[in-house]
Amino acid sequence: MPELPEVETTLRGIAPHLIKASIKEVIVRRRDLRQSVPLSLAEIEGRIVTGVSRRAKYLIIHLKGHHHVILHLGMSGSLRIVDPATEFRTHDHIAFTLSTGKQLRFHDPRRFGIVTHFIADDPLTHPLFASLGPEPLEDAFTARYLQSALKTMKRAIKLTLMDNAIVVGVGNIYASESLFIAGIHPATPACKISLPRLRLLVNSIQDVLRRSIEQGGTTLRDFLRENGEPGYFRQQLFVYEREGEPCRHCGTAIKKITQGQRSTYFCRICQKK
Ligand SMILES: [Zn+2]
Repeated sequence: MPELPEVETTLRGIAPHLIKASIKEVIVRRRDLRQSVPLSLAEIEGRIVTGVSRRAKYLIIHLKGHHHVILHLGMSGSLRIVDPATEFRTHDHIAFTLSTGKQLRFHDPRRFGIVTHFIADDPLTHPLFASLGPEPLEDAFTARYLQSALKTMKRAIKLTLMDNAIVVGVGNIYASESLFIAGIHPATPACKISLPRLRLLVNSIQDVLRRSIEQGGTTLRDFLRENGEPGYFRQQLFVYEREGEPCRHCGTAIKKITQGQRSTYFCRICQKK
């Protein structure tokens, strides 16, 4: 599943191709994604792209006249810039032909992605963004913020980190890795973690995400990178998908448990409640 670093990498990859270009044509080959692609998407034809941004795992293409295209890669989506003459692949559902002679294509085998159109001064007023917590890499995400957000939460810290209402974009891999780095057991009740440990946790989350963004993401093999190579962050993971392998700090076998139907990996020696 594309995680926040892959989405950020995608944003950095496509933005230079889109900004200041105008949309010559919108081609919709399949409309039945997670939400039906609205007919109004065609209204962006002829409009100039003024910017591209990200909120949580959504990408927003800003166009003149307060038009916006909001995209989500879902479970298996990807975006790439191609020559319009390139043959469509099976799951290339939507294409935006640009005035630069290139084309942006949305590819999504499982069709859990979203491509929608929204006209508003501020695209963040769209209902998709209504209940999202702060961005993990922005100033609002601090230990003090977490302390107040978690103060009555008895839920396990791992699950609260993956809750988009608390903080967006901390997926399973990043939650497991940052809890290891902060030395916090993933089943610790969220409200029990002291402010100094929350500081460590915030720093760990930010370090893990930044490192992964620098390396172009962890999981997605099909996103646009200039050299076309997949990310290799996975090789440096401390705990994720390393059940039974020795902890890189103490040598103890990494354990796997299930929390909220998702696998959690941790070291029972290095991570304390
Ligand atoms: Zn260990």
